Amino acid sequence: MSTPRHQALSIVLDRKSPAPVDHPAHVSELFAANVFTGEVMQKHLSKDVYRALQNAINQGETVGRELAEAVASGMKVWAIERGATHYTHWFQPLTGLTAEKHDSFFEVKDGRAMESFSGDNLAQKEPDASSFPSGGIRNTFEARGYTAWDPSSPAFIFENPFGRTLCIPTIFVSYTGEALDYKAPLLKSIEVLNKAAVDVCHYFDRSVRRVTPTLGIEQEYFLVDRAFVELRPDLSLAGRTVIGAPPARGQQLEDHYFGSIPERAYAFMKEMEIEAYKLGIPITTRHNEVAPGQFECAPQFEELNIAIDHNSLLMDLMDRVARKHNFRVLLHEKPFAGINGSGKHNNWSMGTDNGKNLLSPGNAPKDNLQFLTFFINVIKAVHDHADLLRAVIASASNDHRLGANEAPPAIISTFIGAQLTKVLDEIEKPSRKKSSDTPKPYLKLGIPKIPPLLLDNTDRNRTSPFAFTGNKFEFRAVGSSANSAGSMVALNTIVANQLMEFKKTVERKVTRGKKKDVAILEVLREYVAESRNIRFEGNGYSKEWEEEAARRGLNNIKQTPRALDAYVSKSTLEVFTRLGIFSETELRARHEIRLEQYIKKIDIEARILDEMISQQVVPAAIRYQKTLVENVEGLKDIGIKTGYSGQVALIEEISKEVDGLLNSLNALRKELASEHHGDDMRAHGIAYGEKVVPLMASIRAASDRLENIVADDVWPVPKYREMLFIK
Ligand code: ADP
Ligand code: MG
Repeated sequence: MSTPRHQALSIVLDRKSPAPVDHPAHVSELFAANVFTGEVMQKHLSKDVYRALQNAINQGETVGRELAEAVASGMKVWAIERGATHYTHWFQPLTGLTAEKHDSFFEVKDGRAMESFSGDNLAQKEPDASSFPSGGIRNTFEARGYTAWDPSSPAFIFENPFGRTLCIPTIFVSYTGEALDYKAPLLKSIEVLNKAAVDVCHYFDRSVRRVTPTLGIEQEYFLVDRAFVELRPDLSLAGRTVIGAPPARGQQLEDHYFGSIPERAYAFMKEMEIEAYKLGIPITTRHNEVAPGQFECAPQFEELNIAIDHNSLLMDLMDRVARKHNFRVLLHEKPFAGINGSGKHNNWSMGTDNGKNLLSPGNAPKDNLQFLTFFINVIKAVHDHADLLRAVIASASNDHRLGANEAPPAIISTFIGAQLTKVLDEIEKPSRKKSSDTPKPYLKLGIPKIPPLLLDNTDRNRTSPFAFTGNKFEFRAVGSSANSAGSMVALNTIVANQLMEFKKTVERKVTRGKKKDVAILEVLREYVAESRNIRFEGNGYSKEWEEEAARRGLNNIKQTPRALDAYVSKSTLEVFTRLGIFSETELRARHEIRLEQYIKKIDIEARILDEMISQQVVPAAIRYQKTLVENVEGLKDIGIKTGYSGQVALIEEISKEVDGLLNSLNALRKELASEHHGDDMRAHGIAYGEKVVPLMASIRAASDRLENIVADDVWPVPKYREMLFIK
């Protein structure tokens, strides 16, 4: 019998990758070919214009009208030379995707056709775009939203076989100035962190003029053949399987991890990387991940704002290239139950304009104290705002991952490794005996020596949601489909706030006559003690940690609706409004949007589940049951009286499961339709989390039991073993 599933199987077995794309022997020659880089600017802009623009970028100032005009005319020439016919303000609305609305350079002016692109076109647009989530900030009837150029992220040309478009990175704000996107608050948080960190740097190095957060984003993803995905409403519409029995062989053998990359996946990666290079995205790493069908790529780290633009662009690119290779790339946090989910590891640090990584322990004793200052302040910030860090990674999809299999738990903690633990212990309670290799003046102060071994990265803990990895922190709990800006705004801001607090406290001590280094160390000592309970060095996946965390009073909020509370907690409101990152209106709007997205996602998944169970699973089970019934009847007809009790039991089991499924579906429909949640979005979300999610899980379990007893040839949707193991 040839079902669509079997046809898909034969299609997949015959698949060939598209012809490899041409590239020069040195792929570095391609790098940033489609980017309006500094080098390109120097060619297309006058010296004065170029210098003025660089100044504005470096000082974080707005670009004036005249300057925008001059930049636009150079940009236009470059873009048209490279084949662009249209331009777009490229922005990151709160849907989590990127948005673009193309305008042509072409226009007819006074009866004459020409290509034009003005400074105004570059600087600002009103894309209407009234349907993006605003959390009540905008009413659609006064739908004014503006995009405004972010000159600190370079413009680029996005190409496909049919055309090229100049993309201008922009922020997206409402008429009244509230942020409607991810980038606007991100840029503010970068500035606030810059100022706070420079101030603290001056304790150690007066020459520092700018501190920029740096970010390297590791992106995990699954590749599944398109033919399979198209047959599964859950994968094609929601990016995750809502039913599917685990295969006999899952990832127990862990033989996929770092194994040789299957050829079709390799072809995809190669093309994706080449496209990424052209866009100036410096991808340097590719490998298989733990789960079958799961992979990871990572670029070299960049300035945080650019790293996030590049990651957004990369996700878009991956999707397009995957389709060309007859794959679908799944960026969902948990596409397959019982199998590892995907994260987006945010490797974060801070760098100075004179080339120093502030989270890199140096050899000189002065650097040593500077490192400890930034390191301990980050830990203190994480300690004080752990709930916010939990909130910013919360989503319906990430709920499936946090705490399951190999994902960091929903409990926020930080791992620093045995050696740094020793160092912090030493700071907290200096021992009498001093190690002989600590330099004298610092020995007196009680500053412990930092072992150089640290840089080896030997001490890794992959179960920690927020791990120190030698010269950066790695926020591993961020979901693979998320826009990193959401979590990085929070991290930048709480660290900035913490550094300001630190400086104030040190100053107080200094005015009271303490020596600067002594004051610094005293404050750090207090912080180490106060933030002790956020540090955890053990296995974050274990049951014991959950118990231990509870004893320590750390929160373990498993579901999004409650986790989101921290968006509007007293401390978040206080810090974010004081530092000018968000107004209260903006925070409340974000809270509401995240709740709404949670509800919508679950709603969609529940409806897909309903559709698959009633239109695919139940009919298949009944069809198979009918053949069993006919068989037993036939046996009876020819006079056989025994030997089919097993079949009868199977018929009964199918009846029981089908009946249970149909009843649960009714319960699910009632829950989805219920009006009792009213207007209270939070209550609605909680009810979905506590009632709809478990119902879906039990429906899934019944469906998976059926999958295991129904004849393979009638099963209507591709199975896990097919989607994950056929290469
Ligand atoms: P893994 O965690 O899998 O071992 P890697 O060590 O390859 O990953 O690096 C992870 C990411 O951290 C890379 O993108 C790398 O560029 C980035 N990274 C390295 N140094 C810094 C830094 N100072 N700031 C931000 N990211 C950094
Ligand atoms: Mg990593």
